Amino acid sequence: MSASPPLAVLGQRLAGRQAHGLGRRLVGIGPATGPRVEVQGRSCLLMASNDYLGLSGHPRLIQAAMEASRRWGIGSGASRLAAGTLDGHLELEQAIAEFKGTPAALFFSTGYMTNLGVISSLAGPGDYIVSDQLNHASLIDACRLSRAQVRIYNHGDWQAAESLLEQAPDSGLRLLVSDGVFSMDGDMAPLAELARVARHHQALLVVDEAHATGVWGQSGRGSLEHYGLEYWPELVSIGTFSKALGGAGGFVAAAPEVINTLVQGARSFLYSTAPPPAQVAVAREVLALLEEEPWRRDTLHQLCARLRGNLEQAGLRLLSSAGPIVPVLVGEADQALNLAQALWQEGVYAPAMRPPTVPPGTSRLRLTVNAAHSPEDMDLAAQALRRAAKQVGLL
Ligand SMILES: *Cc1c(COP(=O)(O)O)cnc(C)c1O
Repeated sequence: MSASPPLAVLGQRLAGRQAHGLGRRLVGIGPATGPRVEVQGRSCLLMASNDYLGLSGHPRLIQAAMEASRRWGIGSGASRLAAGTLDGHLELEQAIAEFKGTPAALFFSTGYMTNLGVISSLAGPGDYIVSDQLNHASLIDACRLSRAQVRIYNHGDWQAAESLLEQAPDSGLRLLVSDGVFSMDGDMAPLAELARVARHHQALLVVDEAHATGVWGQSGRGSLEHYGLEYWPELVSIGTFSKALGGAGGFVAAAPEVINTLVQGARSFLYSTAPPPAQVAVAREVLALLEEEPWRRDTLHQLCARLRGNLEQAGLRLLSSAGPIVPVLVGEADQALNLAQALWQEGVYAPAMRPPTVPPGTSRLRLTVNAAHSPEDMDLAAQALRRAAKQVGLL
């Protein structure tokens, strides 16, 4: 018997996804940095961007990108350890360490690459990782890539995390890994408890602050700051410039021993061309902006409270989250798709989140708030969602 033609095999698999309401497609968003965009010919209020502080169109960041490109060129020319480290990279890493209150930091092209590099170079066979069930895909992939023993605990259950750590082998390194703010549920990890448990059991605590950096804490340092947790040497704090900070690039802030281990062995750092000058300059500038424009964070949290209040009043089912990620629970994937479609018809764009991004049966609309939204936008969004939910029979 001969094998099936490869494209026929792929076609069948794709049809299978489609039949379960799990097909995905790319939708282009019309040119805009603000919250009003064009989606497939319709002018929409965008409620789906992670640019939480509304910084991606900031004139100073655009200026920084242009100036850096003129001075240093568009590309960095080589990987960091070859000839790609520019002064700007080192200065940025210094600035990140200062911002996070750690002795050292390292900048990566993306947050995804940061997670892959950090976990897989810190941990290897013989090591032991304890990881939250709802951690971001990049952390899950990183744990697999490390070939360490990985144990998963129920979402947010720090006591379960502790009992897993109690079962750790005596030799080898221990890592406790969690998102600070969870990307799909928008809730916060119990970081004070996780910190205590990690320290008690001699584990490194790795916290991914992708959705918390810029949003939480007195100075926007993230969820650790929100809980009043200061740097200790066994803390590995990860973040990204791609969300609230409006740009692109991941980072890790930690002890020199950790950073040096990454410089020696993080493959996503070593074998990829260094981030380009414009990206580095923007990251540098946005750290200054965070300090100079704290009102963005206050505005954001006021808008979030207003949207949540509106949606609850409308009778929609929200997951208990805080901050700019506002998940409206629907259930089945095709229902979530219908709701997103009806919402788009109402002039609001927020795509449905479905498995495997979220667990089966918990498909949802993931609304996000942005400091560039107006209070009226929050009312408009809630009214539109209410009409859309009625239309598809959810209310
Ligand atoms: C988005 C995200 C990342 C990836 O960051 P990028 O800079 O977009 O690659 C990593 N971790 C979490 C929790 C995220 O939400």
